[in-house]
Amino acid sequence: MQGEMEDKCGIIGYHSKNDSKNVASFVYYCLYALQHRGQESAGIATFNPEKGLNYYCGMGLITDVFKDYEIQNLLGNMAIGHVRYSTTGQSRLENSQPFVTDFDDGFIAMAHNGDIVNSAELREELINDGYEFKSDTDSEVICYMLKKEHYDNNKSMIESIECVSKKLVGSYALTILVNGDLYGVRDPMGIKPLAIADKDGDYILASETVAFDVVNAEYIRDIKPGEVVYFDNNEINSYMLESAGKCKLSHCMFEYVYFARPDSTIDGVNVYETRMNIGKQLRKLYPIDADVVIPVPDSSIPAAIGYSRASGIPYGEGLIKNRYVGRTFIMPTQEERELAVRLKLNPIKDAIKGKKIILIDDSIVRGTTSKQLLDLVKEAEPAEIHFLVGCPPVIAPCYYGVAMATKKELIAANYSVEEIREQLDIDSLGYITMEALVEAIGMPKDNLCLGCINEEYPTEIPEGLEAETYYKP
Ligand code: AMP
Repeated sequence: MQGEMEDKCGIIGYHSKNDSKNVASFVYYCLYALQHRGQESAGIATFNPEKGLNYYCGMGLITDVFKDYEIQNLLGNMAIGHVRYSTTGQSRLENSQPFVTDFDDGFIAMAHNGDIVNSAELREELINDGYEFKSDTDSEVICYMLKKEHYDNNKSMIESIECVSKKLVGSYALTILVNGDLYGVRDPMGIKPLAIADKDGDYILASETVAFDVVNAEYIRDIKPGEVVYFDNNEINSYMLESAGKCKLSHCMFEYVYFARPDSTIDGVNVYETRMNIGKQLRKLYPIDADVVIPVPDSSIPAAIGYSRASGIPYGEGLIKNRYVGRTFIMPTQEERELAVRLKLNPIKDAIKGKKIILIDDSIVRGTTSKQLLDLVKEAEPAEIHFLVGCPPVIAPCYYGVAMATKKELIAANYSVEEIREQLDIDSLGYITMEALVEAIGMPKDNLCLGCINEEYPTEIPEGLEAETYYKP
């Protein structure tokens, strides 16, 4: 997207009133729980007045980036952390977060999950003001906008966040560390998730509640769309942006469909339950007669269980995932690409051979994964293949951080369901409908962003803005 990088990531904020406590290891474990939200890079920034600001970022998984040594050097009772999502765009250390900028008597460190659609324009303004950019992220744009208001224009942080939010168009969940203060911010449409928990009197902000479970913290609530939280006298203080409550709520439906972990609850909706409901809705829409319901592991397991329970058709594992395969290289030849797929997934031939199978996947985006997957399944010689999909046809790009793909690459933007079925060469193909998906999530349709399936976006999209494709071999 115009040289900017998408940021569909995981963020953490940690506030402890105990000056002598070092909280980096808790942030590390919270980020570990959010690893599914980003595998490209990871980083943590910590602070306390005596020990100053410390931060460390690196490329790769959280366990690759942080060893004991790095964690021990991250001192302080305030911290933020970030895991970054990988896209086909540039992958470099400068783009990793938290992003830190300093000034005479302080600093701003920031972790961002989301995507700012007007960042090119905002970046130009900052360049004209003399700001020099280190990365090509829109997160750096937000950070400098905050610095400009707070430091150049001498505004309080709350005033600065208010000012900046008026100019930002897009999605943003932020954790910000400014000198000794921690702030959590959620955009007024609530596109990206952010919640808060209590850990023995400390406060933790996280993209997903699974991070709280891991460190045994108690979920308090979700940050409200358009809310800024900060901590004075060790209490949660709340400031509502002027735009809060004045724009359409637009929680990202893809968090529920694919992105979030099933053991998280976002905006009061449990992800596992939603995916089970997706399976039940698929049964209502497609009452197929079959021998077994098989999920594409892992994200489709709850939907397959839901279909199986609703239909009485046994649930069975038919594909085994190698859980230790992380990123594989971009494979130049077809043979190598096939090898990569086989390395990740392998069919259980006896569970499939001669059977009428219902195969359930969470989504089809570009269609490349489904083709490779179905080729594998066909080798196991099922009698019939019925492929059901827990997300309606993805016909339009996402501009708010889920690097789906460009319209040209989206299979459902270019072919009808029947044409896709023919290409996949299977007995039947069924997508969940938008209405059924909304029912499965259980939120009013008006509170969701469904831009990738109905092309109705909650903000203006600047002309010529290009969407990015996610990275997958
Ligand atoms: P494809 O149709 O080849 O683009 O692959 C779709 C599959 O990739 C889905 O079944 C998901 O499991 C996964 N997926 C979908 N969207 C994304 C995304 N934005 N980033 C990473 N993986 C995704």
